[in-house]
Amino acid sequence: MCIFCKIVQGEVPSRKVYESEQVVAFHDITPQAPVHIIIIPKKHIVTMNEVETGTDDAVIAELFAAARKIAQELGIAESGYRLVNNCNEDSGMEVSHLHFHLLGGRKLGSIVS
Ligand code: C5P
Repeated sequence: MCIFCKIVQGEVPSRKVYESEQVVAFHDITPQAPVHIIIIPKKHIVTMNEVETGTDDAVIAELFAAARKIAQELGIAESGYRLVNNCNEDSGMEVSHLHFHLLGGRKLGSIVS
């Protein structure tokens, strides 16, 4: 089982900020910004490439809805934030379970490096 599936199952601890039937969000263990939240589907979708149009539409929509809600709740909606998805090797993806990074709370640098 992957590390994020273990977080979903409660086998690995996390500081959750959002949970529903299909989605979980938690504080990143190595935050890159004052706010750094990882938002994932409970379903083990490996990367954006494996998202199935139709089947996964609702869960993908909920990932974005969760990001909006969390940004509001953590007070970064107006100051601004970045929502990042890494896919496969060139992006530096480390955990092969679809996730979005919600980053904010400071001025963020260039999106590309
Ligand atoms: O997009 P990428 O795969 O590189 O990011 C994975 C992220 O998951 C990292 O920022 C890492 O700190 C985070 N992580 C976590 N809790 C874990 C394992 C990884 O927050 N138990």
